[in-house]
Amino acid sequence: MTTKTAAVTPMMAQYLEIKAAHDDALLFYRMGDFYELFFDDAVAASAALDIALTKRGKHLGEDIAMCGVPVHAAESYLLTLIRKGFRVAVCEQTEDPAEAKKRGSKSVVRREVVRLVTPGTLTEDTLLDARRNNFLAAFAEIRGASALAWADVSTGEMAVAGLSRMGLGPILARLAPREVLIRDQVEEDPSLRAQIEEAGATTTALGPASFDSTAGAARLHALYRVATLDSFGQFERVEIAALGALADYIELTQKGKLPLLKPPVRETGQGAMRIDAATRRNLELTRSLAGERQGSLLHAIDRSLTGAGARLLAARLAAPLTDPAEIARRLDAVQHLTEDAEFLAQLRTALTQVPEIERALSRLVLERGGPRDLAQIRTGLAQAADLSALIAEFAGLPDALIAAAARLKGHDDLVRLLDETLTAEPPLLARDGGLVATGIDSALDQARRLRDEGRGVIAGMQADYAAQTGIDSLKVKHNNVLGYFIETTARHADKLMTPPLSETFVHRQTLANQVRFSTVALSEIESKILNAGAEALAIEQRIFAELRQAVLDRAAPIGEAARALAELDVAASHAKLAVEERWCRPSVPASRAFQIEGGRHPVVEQALRAEGKGSFIANDCDLSAEASGPAPLWLMTGPNMAGKSTFLRQNALIAVLAQMGSFVPASAAEIGVVDQLFSRVGAADDLARGRSTFMVEMVETAAILNQAGGQALVILDEIGRGTATYDGLSIAWATLEHLHEVNHCRGLFATHYHELTALAETLPQLSPATVAVREWEGEVIFLHEVRPGAADRSYGVQVARLAGLPDAVIARARAVLERLESSDREEGAAALADALPLFSAARAAPPPPRQSGVETRLETVDPDTLSPREALDLIYELRALAKG
Ligand code: ATP
Repeated sequence: MTTKTAAVTPMMAQYLEIKAAHDDALLFYRMGDFYELFFDDAVAASAALDIALTKRGKHLGEDIAMCGVPVHAAESYLLTLIRKGFRVAVCEQTEDPAEAKKRGSKSVVRREVVRLVTPGTLTEDTLLDARRNNFLAAFAEIRGASALAWADVSTGEMAVAGLSRMGLGPILARLAPREVLIRDQVEEDPSLRAQIEEAGATTTALGPASFDSTAGAARLHALYRVATLDSFGQFERVEIAALGALADYIELTQKGKLPLLKPPVRETGQGAMRIDAATRRNLELTRSLAGERQGSLLHAIDRSLTGAGARLLAARLAAPLTDPAEIARRLDAVQHLTEDAEFLAQLRTALTQVPEIERALSRLVLERGGPRDLAQIRTGLAQAADLSALIAEFAGLPDALIAAAARLKGHDDLVRLLDETLTAEPPLLARDGGLVATGIDSALDQARRLRDEGRGVIAGMQADYAAQTGIDSLKVKHNNVLGYFIETTARHADKLMTPPLSETFVHRQTLANQVRFSTVALSEIESKILNAGAEALAIEQRIFAELRQAVLDRAAPIGEAARALAELDVAASHAKLAVEERWCRPSVPASRAFQIEGGRHPVVEQALRAEGKGSFIANDCDLSAEASGPAPLWLMTGPNMAGKSTFLRQNALIAVLAQMGSFVPASAAEIGVVDQLFSRVGAADDLARGRSTFMVEMVETAAILNQAGGQALVILDEIGRGTATYDGLSIAWATLEHLHEVNHCRGLFATHYHELTALAETLPQLSPATVAVREWEGEVIFLHEVRPGAADRSYGVQVARLAGLPDAVIARARAVLERLESSDREEGAAALADALPLFSAARAAPPPPRQSGVETRLETVDPDTLSPREALDLIYELRALAKG
């Protein structure tokens, strides 16, 4: 054992020590130009990245598995690993190898983990989706109270909300965080884990210390450099615990470099429309049912031009407002832009030039930013100033635009400084040099001149040496090992190695065909170049640090300007959309009105147009209610495929759009503030969560009946479908009664149980409505028109025929339907089963295919008894039959 232990090299000992401290992450161990991974890390990473697994030496007698990624391409590998659910600890060399050598020839370069890369703490553009926030969240619980805090490290947003366990699903659905921190104690709680994973996030468990509220408060004081959090608002203990856990984890992963977080915003839940996870899914607000952005409402309405604008638009869509004044303020801005085409066009042209500011700023704060981030901020702020000047040219602007314009200004000095100091196209990394323009620093200019002159001198030396030796092909070259050297072919080398030339040329290296030399003069020039180059680089680094500090000193107002640009982008996006799609401004009063004229479904309408399938038929909807008491419920019946679901959803989407501050796809709309939105579809399986179709449906229906209040809007599509006909009908019946009598919410209820229309006689606010179709020669023609009244039937059989069910099945279905409709259902079914043993008979002997005349005639023929003449006649007869 001792011998084996002794065999551990000093480097491996260092590796193992660092790895032990980060055993839940893959360790990227920096060696020269590569990050190397060893042992199990190497096996896992090589499989995940599809790169070669090699070996390097032995540890305890076994081969050490190894794989590596080049440092310059590390980001793309990191992205793959993070997407595949890994965490990565990045371990860098933190001292110069020359320093290490001073401690002894065997000593290992000092290395430290400088950052833990996790899904929720990314900052690099290549690792992030520019149009999406990247939230890290923390869920805390203290004696029955709970809270969720969240932050986007890449943009500096931070917020917290107190909530119940039940409220966690909806908020996770809204934020779609990438990573959620929980107490390790509750880690075993399968329902919590399931909820987090359902929202598409990774769960990370932390110890109790991370969630301690007293330590949390101290961490937040340090983070914001304040003595008390009071100036940010009053926070509950559990909210501090959640925020504190965030701060702790950010510190842990960023290894002490703290991002610039804006003061935490405390969300009370009062200001936003409540939309639970199932409703978001059903309405396909930000993702389609297939999980794609394409096909979602967000995709259909997003006309923003900047990443920050796209993120703000998505955030607003996820949390529509409930304050009529604030909604009107947003709508005023949009309206103004729709009415001034010139202004809108100029604004949007300017916005296309705006780069990402928030994320560049965040990288600079975390000491991860480079000269290009400075350049991005320079361009962004210059563009902001231009925009502010542009806006000032237009008079009579609404409040929201004036307020945004005011926040764009005031950065002229910084822009000038950056503009003058930086080169036009600075390098990605400060250490590459070349970021500072000429004429800024005389010492820098001089060092650069020396360096460049040195290079010129060397170019001249090649000609001198060629002349001196008479070897025309002689070259002066450079590499990292030898520095500058003189190279000649082996054929000429002897000449340089014999006097008198050997007094000047010192042999350095012999390769297969070349021999390399140096001279004293060349070495002298080389060290001059090196010194001058190093000096220039040092000056550039210093200037970079100064510029970075100048930006950080103004971080808060720069963040404000970035936010104002995003607000302008969102207003312009809504205006562009409204003009293009001919949408109207909704009015959103604090009432229970709900009147939509000529409403359309934004996603279906755009899809129909894209597929060239004709135009969308607009429909009205009126659910306006008195201030209190039962509110109107529309009971929608109508054929399959007529457009019931589309109609239901379009009205919910119009409410969401109106309250996020967008125009809506309608010719007129008045939406009394909706504070809760529910949408459920019967018969939607949720096998992933291990619940049957019907169970899911009932759990979700229960949630609505228990929660929906007088300001809610409820959309129920075919509730009760997942069980036997009479059970389903009874549940749908009782649900409707409850919504009308107890919940008093506005709602739309689509069903194929035509029996429910009888309820309209007892429930005064229940109005039957139907989607019209026309029947022509046994076929249905869909008109997609919503009208008052009830459908007489569902035309399911006709639709089944359109879908291509075999003729025999359609014919049989028609017969069964006739019998069922002509008698009491159960009796009719029993009679049918007796008279025509439907399923058994059908399965045992499918109805024989119809015979042709030729086939019938052939059956009567006995070929063995036919004379040649008769056979010939038969052929003529069959031919005539075949011709019909
Ligand atoms: P089912 O009862 O079978 O669920 P449904 O009545 O809910 O059917 P939808 O799914 O809403 O029918 O609509 C079917 C298709 O009809 C849609 O995919 C769309 O292409 C088209 N459609 C619906 N409404 C309209 C409309 N107003 N104008 C034009 N096309 C429409």
